[in-house]
Amino acid sequence: MDNPQIASPARTRAIMERYNLTFKKSLGQNFLTDINILRKIVAAAEVSTDDDVIEIGPGIGALTEQLAHKAHQVMALEIDDRLIPVLGETLAPYDNVTIIKQDVLKADLKQVIAEHFDGQHRLKLVANLPYYITTPIIMHILEGDVDFDAIVVMMQKEVAQRLSAHPGTKDYGSLSVAVQYEMDAKIAFIVPKTVFMPQPKVDSAIVYLSKRTEQRVKPKNEAFFKQMVKGIFLHRRKSLWNNLQGLYGKEPETKAKLEQVLADLGFEKAVRAERLSIEEMIQLADGLFAKKIAGK
Ligand code: SAM
Repeated sequence: MDNPQIASPARTRAIMERYNLTFKKSLGQNFLTDINILRKIVAAAEVSTDDDVIEIGPGIGALTEQLAHKAHQVMALEIDDRLIPVLGETLAPYDNVTIIKQDVLKADLKQVIAEHFDGQHRLKLVANLPYYITTPIIMHILEGDVDFDAIVVMMQKEVAQRLSAHPGTKDYGSLSVAVQYEMDAKIAFIVPKTVFMPQPKVDSAIVYLSKRTEQRVKPKNEAFFKQMVKGIFLHRRKSLWNNLQGLYGKEPETKAKLEQVLADLGFEKAVRAERLSIEEMIQLADGLFAKKIAGK
């Protein structure tokens, strides 16, 4: 190959200058310039020729290139049309890469995947996410109902900690529950801010999401469960009891039903939502649903 790899400060600068480009802060453009970090990300995702990989936000192609070395096929969705010709050039040596100009939040992931991959390979999602929309992207991925074998994504360290947090810790909240309801989540490693161009203000972390090892008992009504989870974390410092009343009302009849459900499950009134495991939240939602308690 004539060109040096994309991921280095010198090459990144050269590419940006040649195309007369500036980094768009509004699109979360902090490009990775450290080849070792990129290799670690690809290794964490255990990408091999058995895998088709979807990437969100290829930038100038630093991660895409490393994925292309290992994967069967790579498809990357990039919103910034200025970068499409750049990617055409930087990734020209790789015939297993497809770039699509697309806002990931507007993409029907299931459809895009069906159109571009053969369905014969494992499916992984690997990305250095644009930080300004990390949570919406994660929710969009989970709601997209695609059966990913693994999702390996870089995000702000604080968000990564919330996503992978366990009950009883300060970071555990509705995001942890929303994600861990679907997949097992852990932080693979921390990435210092110095490996990006331009440098972000905070450190980052790689989150590894994998298929749940244990099949989860689903709530009786998933929409009810999800709405309840948001509601019980709405005021983090309030008790579960107070948040439940905020969610379902304070009418004597409602309160009596709430009290009954909490008592049946053996939950103290003063307990906070952050103490409950996802299984306990499902039990709570099922108990409330059975008593026909409805949101206000
Ligand atoms: N993958 C490259 C790297 O690691 O160097 C770039 C990562 S950069 C943090 C995020 C990328 O996501 C940028 O290229 C940005 O233009 C792109 N992006 C931002 N919002 C997007 C969206 N809604 N849909 C698709 N791509 C988006």
